Amino acid sequence: MTQLPQPRGRLTADKPLADLTWLRVGGPADRLFQPADLDDLRAFLRELPAGIEVFPMGVGSNLIVRDGGLRAVVIRLGRGFNGIGIDGARVTAGAAALDAHVARKAADVGRDLTFLRTIPGAIGGAVAMNAGCYGTYVADRLVEIRAITRTGDLVTIPAADLHLSYRSSRLPEGAVIVEAVFNAPAGDPDTLDARMAEQLAKRDATQPTNDRTAGSTFRNPAGFSSTGAPDDVHDLKAWKVIDEAGLRGARRGGAQMSPKHPNFLVNTGDASAADLEGLGEEVRKKVFLHSGIELEWEIKRIGEPGAPDEG
Ligand SMILES: Cc1cc2nc3c(=O)[nH]c(=O)nc-3n(C[C@H](O)[C@H](O)[C@H](O)COP(=O)(O)OP(=O)(O)OC[C@H]3O[C@@H](n4cnc5c(N)ncnc54)[C@H](O)[C@@H]3O)c2cc1C
Repeated sequence: MTQLPQPRGRLTADKPLADLTWLRVGGPADRLFQPADLDDLRAFLRELPAGIEVFPMGVGSNLIVRDGGLRAVVIRLGRGFNGIGIDGARVTAGAAALDAHVARKAADVGRDLTFLRTIPGAIGGAVAMNAGCYGTYVADRLVEIRAITRTGDLVTIPAADLHLSYRSSRLPEGAVIVEAVFNAPAGDPDTLDARMAEQLAKRDATQPTNDRTAGSTFRNPAGFSSTGAPDDVHDLKAWKVIDEAGLRGARRGGAQMSPKHPNFLVNTGDASAADLEGLGEEVRKKVFLHSGIELEWEIKRIGEPGAPDEG
């Protein structure tokens, strides 16, 4: 890679991304950049040669990074980007703040962002993925974001311009979200706490929350996630069509479709990215043959395949 600008933050060459993803797989990024603060990030992007790709990464809870790694500068925000400010209904959270932390802090002062409590990512990833569960999505609460463009400009983007839809958003190419502003309804702190505890218990009962996963592997063919309501329709849920095709617990190398929740792809210990992606593709093929439904990946798969002997 050509000479890069020298930031105040940390720039690491050939950083194995397996260290930074929930699935614990992924080859090296050419560079990992952890900016010291907003000005450091802006200056770095301004000076970074135009041909070099950047990939903003959250906490890697929705990613398969392939075994050959990523020919890009991966930007990972940390301290300096994780502040949370609450002013009445307006909750401002840094992109590196964990979803769960934002939900808890808001609840402490009687503001309801409880839907974020059980989602394991950080706020930048939540906005990029329009994360949500139990019937509420980022799109329902987001007012605006601040982002740094690939050329280093700080911009404010209203939620409407992000075209948030089921597990997707439209961000300018290479833009790094640095902050999000939510409109949080009022609620009684004890009631909000109780709701979050209930949601955590529900997750633990139905999903492999202690395994290495990246959450739902495929989008629900119905086009929405669980509403949590008792009359929720399950016939077009990805887990159901995978189960019906007999693929609950299916394995390839160290990869497995969770016996507890068949839409969760699990690294049972020594899976490569190729095992995980290969099993996912096999499931797509078999589900299509069984029911004619074409499952679409929800997990983002990025980077280059490894050499054949790597998996
Ligand atoms: C056990 C488990 C349960 C889950 N349950 C849910 C659920 O109920 N609902 C749900 O919606 N998701 C769920 N997920 C998936 C995942 O947690 C969410 O998609 C989450 O929002 C991803 O955030 P992240 O910080 O990990 O992002 P990453 O996985 O690191 O990145 C995901 C995408 O966001 C982009 N991105 C991240 N940060 C930024 C930034 N600062 N600027 C620009 N782009 C950025 C990345 O480029 C990438 O395209 C679950 C995952 C797990 C492991």
